[in-house]
Amino acid sequence: MKITVVGTGYVGLVTGTCLAETGNEVVCVDIDKNKVDRMKNGEVPIYEPHLDILFERNIKAGRLSFTTQLQEGLDHGDIIFLALPTPEDEDGSADLSYVLGVANDIGEKMKSYKVVVDKSTVPVGTAEKVQATIAAKTTVDFDVVSNPEFLREGFAVDDFLKPERIVVGSSSERATALMEKLYKPFVRSGNPIIIMDEKSAELTKYAANSFLATKITFMNEIANYCELVGADVDKVRRGMGTDSRIGKRFLFPGIGYGGSCFPKDVKALHKSGKESGYNFQILDAVIDVNNHQKVKLIPKIMSHFNGDLSGKTIAIWGLAFKPETDDIREAPSLYMIDALLAKGAKIKTFDPEAMDNVKAKYKDQIEFATNMYEATENADALVISTEWSIFRTPNFTKLRDNLKESIIFDGRNLYDVEDMEKEGFTYISIGRKEVS
Ligand code: NAD
Repeated sequence: MKITVVGTGYVGLVTGTCLAETGNEVVCVDIDKNKVDRMKNGEVPIYEPHLDILFERNIKAGRLSFTTQLQEGLDHGDIIFLALPTPEDEDGSADLSYVLGVANDIGEKMKSYKVVVDKSTVPVGTAEKVQATIAAKTTVDFDVVSNPEFLREGFAVDDFLKPERIVVGSSSERATALMEKLYKPFVRSGNPIIIMDEKSAELTKYAANSFLATKITFMNEIANYCELVGADVDKVRRGMGTDSRIGKRFLFPGIGYGGSCFPKDVKALHKSGKESGYNFQILDAVIDVNNHQKVKLIPKIMSHFNGDLSGKTIAIWGLAFKPETDDIREAPSLYMIDALLAKGAKIKTFDPEAMDNVKAKYKDQIEFATNMYEATENADALVISTEWSIFRTPNFTKLRDNLKESIIFDGRNLYDVEDMEKEGFTYISIGRKEVS
């Protein structure tokens, strides 16, 4: 099939590449000329495991190409995916200007029947807006489909190739049949393509992300309570997670959720609820608790250094909002960096993939190390903010030698408290006993 993907970020590039992998001819359109030039030169502009192999293979096979010209994309594709940003607007709602702007251009430029597929995360009613925007500019026949994306950064290729489910919101039989044909190779193991109306599809994505953010936040509150009463959240987590109604995943407490999706999607659902006269009280609490959780370690660090961080150097391991990505959008690490800088601390940091993105934001305000141990040399304390695998079994002797004082503030509960006690560290984590 002939496919066009508009927007080649984390979702669009993975979508385009994986659809090419199953034999489709894919043209990816992006307004970022620099990005398109890099892709034309065979460079993957984001870090996403396994994407490079598929990217190279499909370019070589002539099934994957890139352009800045929407017209070229529209002349090529029968199905046009919109994988455009829907960032948080000032009032917390989803900014639809990218999606509706491109819909307007599609209306002006399309010459034959198209299925316009919205893969961006958008509020209920957006498919109708896209439909109306295109229809205002053309008399050519088209359909609009809502097809929210559930991939996880860091596992995006696997998630796209073997999705647990595909949600298609469509009221057109013709468009639904095309979507089923396109996705058939991805559901050979029997996972479902769930067909529904557009509004339900749009809400499914917000409901799923908000539920997951709520699950994390609930555990963060349990962890905070554990600290007050002397319980161990790790034990509570295991005890709870073995109940199949609860499940083991998304029960790990820490310094809050971040990323390009959960924070903005929770706020957007909350805001859309308000606009329709519904107050999502639970989401109010989730947003509030998470804002506090992101800087939860700061008072603990302050209290350890008697309220004075001036002249202190804090090493930070991990900048990405989660492991296996270079994405730093809404990363808790950034909130911590801001708070520590404001208190007068110096920061030395290391992340395997996200340092370039953070450098662009902080320039020479903070120091970037070439490896995890270098970041700790002569630092007064180590703070862990992302659970990258390489941080899980460090050489503790080297760490003790490097740090001025053997103290770790662990925002991701990477180590056993008992082990840290034996290793002679002061170890402060989330929802567990502090040892020194
Ligand atoms: P992104 O910011 O990584 O990528 C968006 C791309 O769109 C950029 O390359 C940008 O240059 C391009 N773009 C902007 N305006 C354009 C235009 N007019 N024409 C062509 N290209 C244009 O965004 P993302 O993370 O891929 O997210 C895209 C959508 O998918 C969002 O709605 C997001 O909520 C949703 N989503 C994201 C994820 C995720 O893990 N990142 C997962 C599921 C859903």
